[in-house]
Amino acid sequence: MNLTAPIFTDADKAREHLEATRWPHGPICPHCGVIDEATALKGSAHRAGLYQCNACREQFTITVGTVFERSKVPLNKWLLATYLMSSSKKGISAHQVGRTLGVTYKTAWFMCHRIREAMAEANPAPMGGEGKTVEADESVVGGKEKNKRLSKRNAKNIGAVGKQVVFTLVERSGRARSFHVANVSGKTLRPLLVKHVDRKSALMTDDAGQYRPVGKEFASHETVNHGIEEYVRGNAHSNTVEGFFSLLKRGVVGTFHHVSEAHLARYLAEFDFRYSNRIALGINDTMRTDELLRGIGGKRLTYRRTGEAAHA
Ligand SMILES: [Zn+2]
Repeated sequence: MNLTAPIFTDADKAREHLEATRWPHGPICPHCGVIDEATALKGSAHRAGLYQCNACREQFTITVGTVFERSKVPLNKWLLATYLMSSSKKGISAHQVGRTLGVTYKTAWFMCHRIREAMAEANPAPMGGEGKTVEADESVVGGKEKNKRLSKRNAKNIGAVGKQVVFTLVERSGRARSFHVANVSGKTLRPLLVKHVDRKSALMTDDAGQYRPVGKEFASHETVNHGIEEYVRGNAHSNTVEGFFSLLKRGVVGTFHHVSEAHLARYLAEFDFRYSNRIALGINDTMRTDELLRGIGGKRLTYRRTGEAAHA
């Protein structure tokens, strides 16, 4: 797949691709949930891609109930934006998306945020498990200082200088999950660890004190002391999560320049999504884009709760 593919230039081809991806077993009625019990409404009186459910008699198209709903932007442009975002390792700015799609910056900005919403995991299962290792680490993004590790002292000053704290879990050879947190105390991090990491996992962290009590709740807990440049000691390292942070920071600094506190969680969902569906796991750009298209449904309510109007 490349940028000249018909699904990126032709709205009908884009719709057919979206239908094939989201409805592999036939149309799914977004009103009553019934599968493959709909009639395609054909003829000049109906817009292309309109279906009527034989069970509840409601009408729908492939975009009803998705983050693409109620948009005047043609579907081929939505698919192109989705492809650009899922294939750009360090992210792509809304300005660049706007120029590539031929839409205004404002429209591109809303599209990018909706696509980020589709990247968020809907019901995330715990990571890790028996025989698996999950690395946990925290970092700061934003502000002028780059790549500085988070000591307790600068963690306290974060609010004052526009920096934000990110806490990330990475399963080795697996997914990443990141959180925007207020601070790095055990009280803040423990609930995230026990909710998102299977207790049968081996936990790997730096040797900061906040991880010691919660570490006992996992199958094992090993630490790396970054303070004395001890980054790798056999299997005890946090290189995996460090690699994730390095990509995130290059994206935040190089592509987005500034990420506001209000939107940070959305950017984290974007970087988590690409990392969790990366080429090293056998997922290429086309597969990653289709995975994203399968995630566009069922998230519209979350979007509405953010208080943004459907401008795109
Ligand atoms: Zn129905």
